[in-house]
Amino acid sequence: MIEVRNLTKRYGGTVAVDRLSFTVRPGQVTGFLGPNGAGKSTTMRMMLGLDRPAEGRVLIDGRPYERLTEPLRRVGALLEATAVHRGRRAQDHLRWLARSNRIPETRVREVLAMVGLEGVARKRVRGFSLGMSQRLGIAAALLGDPPILLFDEPLNGLDPEGIVWIRNLLKALAAEGRTVLVSSHLMGEMALTAEHLVVIGRGRLLADTTVAEFVTAH
Ligand code: ADP
Ligand code: ADP
Repeated sequence: MIEVRNLTKRYGGTVAVDRLSFTVRPGQVTGFLGPNGAGKSTTMRMMLGLDRPAEGRVLIDGRPYERLTEPLRRVGALLEATAVHRGRRAQDHLRWLARSNRIPETRVREVLAMVGLEGVARKRVRGFSLGMSQRLGIAAALLGDPPILLFDEPLNGLDPEGIVWIRNLLKALAAEGRTVLVSSHLMGEMALTAEHLVVIGRGRLLADTTVAEFVTAH
C-alpha cells in the first residue's frame, strides 16, 4: 500500500504538487491521470525519495522509501528518464542491475520473457525503439519481484500490440496482489488499464474513485 499525505512540492514560484492525499491499494491497477504538467512525475519521484517534499509525506507499506530495507526488492519503478548504458546488450544491462542488487541472474531471462523482449535479449540498447526501451525499463522494474510497482507513462511509445501486451502484464501483476500505480495523460488509455483512478490537475486532487464511477460522472 502507498499512502500519500498532504504532499506539496514547489519549484521556485510554481506549485507542482499541492496538498495531495490519496492511497494506492494492492490487488488492482490504480491509474494516475492528469494532463501534462499536472504533477504526476513529481509525485512519483517523491514516492521514491528522489525529490524532497516541501510538506507532507509518502509512506510505502508504512515507511518512507529511504527507510525500506532492500528498496529495489520492495518497489519497482519506471521513470521517464531511467538511465541505461546504451552501448550494452539488453540482457547485460539487466544482469548488471541484478548483480548490483544481489538478485539471482536467472531472473533476467524471466523478466525479458514477461515484457516480450526475449527475442532481442542480445541486441544493443542503442538500436531499441522507444517501445522496446519502455519494455526494458519495465523488465528492470520487475527484476526484484517487488510487491509495489510505480510506472510513469509505461504505454508511451508502444505500438498497439505492445500496449495490449504491457496492459495485460500490468493487470496480471495487480491480480497477483501487487500494488500497481500507472500514470497517463490519456483518459481512454486509463479506462482500459485501471480499475481505480486518482485524477490530478495543477498538482491538486480532482477525483479518487473507481474508473466505472468516473466514466459515469464525466
Ligand atoms: P506531469 O508528470 O504530470 O507531466 P510534472 O510532475 O513533470 O508533471 O510537472 C509538474 C509541474 O512542475 C510542471 O509545471 C513542471 O513544469 C514543473 N516541474 C517539474 N519538474 C521540475 C523541475 N525539475 N524544475 C522546475 N519545474 C519543474
Ligand atoms: P559512462 O562510462 O558513460 O560515464 P557510467 O558507467 O558512469 O557511464 O554509467 C552511466 C549509467 O549507466 C549510470 O546510470 C549507471 O548506473 C549505468 N551503468 C553503469 N554500468 C552499467 C552496466 N554495466 N549496465 C547497465 N547500466 C550501467
